[in-house]
Amino acid sequence: MSAPDWFSVIPATPRVTIIREPLGDDDVKSYLVEGDDAVAVLDTGMGVGDFAGLVRRLSSRPPIVLHSHSHWDHIGASHTFEQVLIHQAEADDLRRGVAFSDYSSWFTPEFVAAHPLPAEFDPATAGIPGCEPTGFLQHGDVIDLGGRRLEVFHTPGHSPGGITLLDRANRLLFPGDAVNYGPLYLFLDGCDLAAYRDMLNLLVELARDVDAIYPSHDAWPMDPADVVVARDAYESVLAGRPADEQHPPQGGYAGYDIHAIGRFRFLMPAGYAGMA
Ligand SMILES: [Zn+2]
Ligand SMILES: [Zn+2]
Repeated sequence: MSAPDWFSVIPATPRVTIIREPLGDDDVKSYLVEGDDAVAVLDTGMGVGDFAGLVRRLSSRPPIVLHSHSHWDHIGASHTFEQVLIHQAEADDLRRGVAFSDYSSWFTPEFVAAHPLPAEFDPATAGIPGCEPTGFLQHGDVIDLGGRRLEVFHTPGHSPGGITLLDRANRLLFPGDAVNYGPLYLFLDGCDLAAYRDMLNLLVELARDVDAIYPSHDAWPMDPADVVVARDAYESVLAGRPADEQHPPQGGYAGYDIHAIGRFRFLMPAGYAGMA
């Protein structure tokens, strides 16, 4: 199977392309944002198939990888790019890569039956090589792609070095895993519930300046007004709203409580009793 069959390539909006890969019940999305001089590569996927080759076919401009964060499903092909930027708080995760033992469990027989893997990819031996970042993304940075600028906001909570990118002129926001419809993972190592609260308030501000939000998982684009819905829902969770479901520890994951509110599912640490 060739790489294009694993990846779905979807034109999103002028000069933005989605590269979509299947992941569990959901998907993971990387984005190409074209400037006149360079193409920003917002994350590099799961490490399945020839992601870098696909990027070369889709854009003739030199690629600059801008990482939303360092979780494994967003850094798969980073080691194959020359320019790779990430927030300093997650630089060591990127350097470390992901061992195949932490990786192969995602590729269950059911998953592979539903989403056939490229022939060259063997989940039993695959891993994600470490990658030395060539620079760091900091809150307040502006990435100039030539005729197009991406403003960098530090948006921790889901992970310590989470980054959101704002394309102010084109009224687009790319929050990575900071917000999306569906599950919001807040019980993982590196999650910070208080930082997530502040972060959602920042996203509410940023959402006022955009017409569309392109998240890394689940349905897209998000309606910017729904960030307010997510913020208010999360406040109710922090205020002690009872969980809708409890999920026991499983397969190396800690247990978590699920708060299902509208289109959002907040996955909170098990037994989380509310902050307020
Ligand atoms: Zn993540
Ligand atoms: Zn993710």
